[in-house]
Order: sequence, then structure tokens, then C-alpha cells
Amino acid sequence: MSVPMAPAGLRPPAAGECQFCGSHPAVRVTFQSIMSILIFYVMSFNRGWMCRSCGLATFRRRANRTLLGGWWGVAALGIPVVLLIDRIRLRKVLRLAPPQPTPGVAAELPAPLDPGQPVLLRPGAIVAGAVLALILLIVALGVWAADAPVE
Ligand SMILES: [Zn+2]
Repeated sequence: MSVPMAPAGLRPPAAGECQFCGSHPAVRVTFQSIMSILIFYVMSFNRGWMCRSCGLATFRRRANRTLLGGWWGVAALGIPVVLLIDRIRLRKVLRLAPPQPTPGVAAELPAPLDPGQPVLLRPGAIVAGAVLALILLIVALGVWAADAPVE
């Protein structure tokens, strides 16, 4: 059995403590993102105990990655599903009290992650807006062409 490295007198985060920063309270949660090129796609995820700040930061990072990288292949159809599932998972993270340091725990990070900008203010939202605007334009042009008067 391997023992994780931790400074003397300190232990790594356990159940109920954030795997990133060691704070409590924390919940066990999974956030995922999807990237797609042509017929290929890659799902990647973070799974584990997260405090409110680290969980929100992880959700936003994963959602931004999906909105940047999900459009370019077959997995584009999965984007709404991935985003919706993660948004539902985020609810239990947002119900947590603000993170408090846990005495005696040494984690990877000295403090909770900064949640950063909301998803809609990140580059992924701009890419998603441009893609959706293009789709709407193509549909509108198609309808207009089909509806043009015939000589
Ligand atoms: Zn944390």
C-alpha cells in the first residue's frame, strides 16, 4: 500500500474535504467536457470531492472548454446534454457553505480556486454565439430561398 506524500504531522484531504485545497465542506461531484473533430470526440472529466469555490471553478473551466472545442465534429449534438448535466450537478456544489480551511490537512493548493469569470463572459461563449448565429443565418437564407417567388 502506498502512502501519499504529506509534510510531517499533516495528512492529505479525506472524504468530505476538497481534493484541490483541503477545505470543507465538500461534496463528491463530476464535471465533464467534450471536444470534437469530424467523427472523433474526447470526453474528459474531473471527479472527486470539491468545495464550493473549487467546484464552481471546475464547472466553469469545463463548460468553457466544451463551448470552445465541442462544435467541430459529431459531438456538437452532445453539447447541450453535457452542459445541462453539469449544470444540474453544480446545484449541490452551490448549496455548500463557503469553504473553510481544515486544520491538519495538506492539499495540492494552499487556498480554494478562484471561480473566475462566469461562463457567458469566457471565450467559449463568444465561439458558441458565433456558431449559433451562423446556423440561424443558414436556416434563414434557406427559408428565404425556398420562399422566393417563382417566375
Ligand atoms: Zn477547494
